[in-house]
Amino acid sequence: MKINSNYDNLVPNYLFAEVAKRTNDFIKANPDKKVIRLGIGDVTLPLAPVVVEAMKQGADELGHKETFKGYPDYEGYEFLRQAISDYYKGFGVTVDAGEIFVSDGAKSDCGNIGDIFSEDNTVMVTDPVYPVYVDSNIMAGRKIVYADSNADNGFAAMPPKDVKADIIYLCSPNNPTGSAYTYDQLKEWVDYANANDAILLYDAAYEAFITDDAPRSIFAVEGARTCAIEFCSLSKTAGFTGTRCGYTVIPKELERDGHNIYKLWYRREATKFNGVSWPVQRGAAAVFSEEGQKQIKENIAYYQENARIISSAMDELGIYYTGGKNSPYIWLRCPDGMGSWEFFDYLLENANVVGTPGEGFGKNGAGYFRLTSFGDRDNTIEAVNRIKKLLSK
Ligand code: PLP
Repeated sequence: MKINSNYDNLVPNYLFAEVAKRTNDFIKANPDKKVIRLGIGDVTLPLAPVVVEAMKQGADELGHKETFKGYPDYEGYEFLRQAISDYYKGFGVTVDAGEIFVSDGAKSDCGNIGDIFSEDNTVMVTDPVYPVYVDSNIMAGRKIVYADSNADNGFAAMPPKDVKADIIYLCSPNNPTGSAYTYDQLKEWVDYANANDAILLYDAAYEAFITDDAPRSIFAVEGARTCAIEFCSLSKTAGFTGTRCGYTVIPKELERDGHNIYKLWYRREATKFNGVSWPVQRGAAAVFSEEGQKQIKENIAYYQENARIISSAMDELGIYYTGGKNSPYIWLRCPDGMGSWEFFDYLLENANVVGTPGEGFGKNGAGYFRLTSFGDRDNTIEAVNRIKKLLSK
């Protein structure tokens, strides 16, 4: 037999392993130092009480014959899809409940959607990039081209004039750069996709962090229904990183190559996926209830305040950065021309603060660094004070 030799083309991503190794080595050598991690992409606040209650009820329901549930619908229960559709309505976007697929998270859907597209397609990603988009397409053997995000475009890449692609991944607000596309910028991408018969794969995992009038969904943009698929997640919105639930929206009119994309994805899901568990779908529906929205917004506001604290330190230090406003990520230029790893070591050794070197996300991340606002408030304040003291010397 032969394995999928495309796996040989994956570039080993040592980023998080190397961050962990250097951090642990430092802690071992300096047991008296309190190291603060502002590198984590995982949330730290617990689930909202209404979500926990709904999940407990869901578990109880599974324990009684009258309310027991077996396999769920492939695309998710109607009550949850309707709640998601109403949520979209809340920010002025029309998405029918019949266009929504509930899933176990955005990472799986972003990685699996390629199943329905030919390997001959060219894929475009922005650089720096969330690694899943790249690696899942290397595994499938697709050609990948890059659209550069850099300081000239505020780390929000725009469609390159002379490069064509069939599948385009966009992430807004962006991981890792924190930038959020404006309506006009997204309109350019939508026009580009429609003109090239391409499909936009739009990752809105951080939409709940948007504070200005940047679109919360690609479907806020005119023309998107004929070229876009949207992935979203409850991970960062409602602390579901360990609970697992997300959703994908495919407009019913989206067609390519003589095929209806919704139907293809339904077929794929029906073949390879047996749905999300009853307690989790009950908990997810609670996120979209009035009380659920109130409770999750308190957690989001907590992270946003952390982001504000980090951003104002960058402002005080005169360091160039993107993000922090519509995003839990602050993407900063390493001071004094330091490289990403050089700055990592400098910060770890002198401020005992851990961040994420930008070059782990692509070539345009060289010389940049990502801090996150998902940590504890007191630790964030302490870390920021140490960084200010160190860098204002
Ligand atoms: N998309 C982006 C851009 C992310 O940063 C992450 C998580 O870090 C995900 C998707 C993963 O979402 P989920 O937990 O729903 O799989």
